[in-house]
Amino acid sequence: MSSILFENAAILDVEQGALLPDRWVLVDGARIASVSDTKPDAPGAQRIDLKGQTLMPGLIDCHVHVTAFTANFAELVRTPPSYVAAKSAEILGGMLRRGFTTVRDVGGADHGLARAIEEGLFPAPRLFFCGKALSPTGGHGDIRAPGTDVHEAAYTQPGLGRIADGVAAVRQAARDEIRRGAHHIKIMGGGGISSPTDRISSDQYSEEEIAAVVEEAAMANLYVAVHSYAARSIERCVRLGVRSIEHGNLATQQTIDLMKAHDAVLVPTLSVFRALVEEGVEAGLPKDLVGKTYEVLDAGINAVEMAYRAGVPMAYGTDLLGVMHRRQLDEFVLRADVVKAPDLIRAATINCARLIRREHELGLVKPGYLADLIVVDGNPLENIRIMADPQRSPRLVVKGGELV
Ligand code: ZN
Ligand code: ZN
Repeated sequence: MSSILFENAAILDVEQGALLPDRWVLVDGARIASVSDTKPDAPGAQRIDLKGQTLMPGLIDCHVHVTAFTANFAELVRTPPSYVAAKSAEILGGMLRRGFTTVRDVGGADHGLARAIEEGLFPAPRLFFCGKALSPTGGHGDIRAPGTDVHEAAYTQPGLGRIADGVAAVRQAARDEIRRGAHHIKIMGGGGISSPTDRISSDQYSEEEIAAVVEEAAMANLYVAVHSYAARSIERCVRLGVRSIEHGNLATQQTIDLMKAHDAVLVPTLSVFRALVEEGVEAGLPKDLVGKTYEVLDAGINAVEMAYRAGVPMAYGTDLLGVMHRRQLDEFVLRADVVKAPDLIRAATINCARLIRREHELGLVKPGYLADLIVVDGNPLENIRIMADPQRSPRLVVKGGELV
């Protein structure tokens, strides 16, 4: 087992929201062995002098689609899985180099990619996946144009969603994703931008169907994440036990209060809306769908502000597609006007770790935790914009005790 001794490190203590200077951090194998203000005895360890730079936990992005090499989902489904797997490796490598040592995929990634990462076939973050998102006919996971009758998509084709209608069918689909190793179950709870036939304001799935998926997930000790913008859609999902609310742009104060009461987590994804407006078409989004973005674009930051004031836990999410992935660190900047820097750092570390139920080993620089670490030039607690400055963050990435 190799070991690394980081010297002269300023540790970003995520829990306290403080920078602790002049620390030594010893990494032994995949985990952090010690964090101390005196030099530990570590013969044979590779020594890295950080010269006072910030050492912080590796970042976690809780809303990604690593297989989405294009924003055109009809094209994605028609592309051979072999090509999509190669593109996914490229996208995942980019995420890791940006400092994301863990990502949660909410539609598209599967056990095959997770296995390849586990076996070290290519550099990538830790991957938590749901397989395909469950969608009703005509919902956000149904990529057919109105003139198309049949579902062409076989399960092994690389789409982000699968169609399931009715309580029996959604139970079967949820069980099937669990069989394939899902870490969470994703459902489409309302209209979306990239889906050609649905409306942003529409609810998707009946209460009976949602309750059935929540029950199936709970039986496997998993949780449900829902794609949802509209207040009514979020509220019914929260009441039925859905834990992770994706996007949430059109939430009202009533929605936020309900989320708080039910201990639900908000995963805003401001990055993608800005990106879709600016370069969605180049990224593959069909032109006629760009207009849907404006229905949610400006509301996104209001939802973040309301959730922050109410103390609803928020996790870091981006939802980027294709060439837009390079904007993954912009979410820090996009939320900065309404969320304080220490809380933004928490969103991308411990809050995400809690959401994926790995808070005992991810998201902190602490003995016993996995050695997923990044080095940043400067103090992001004072200036969060450092996080999105490629000259300053990340200067170094360590995943599982190995330098990237
Ligand atoms: Zn979504
Ligand atoms: Zn998404």
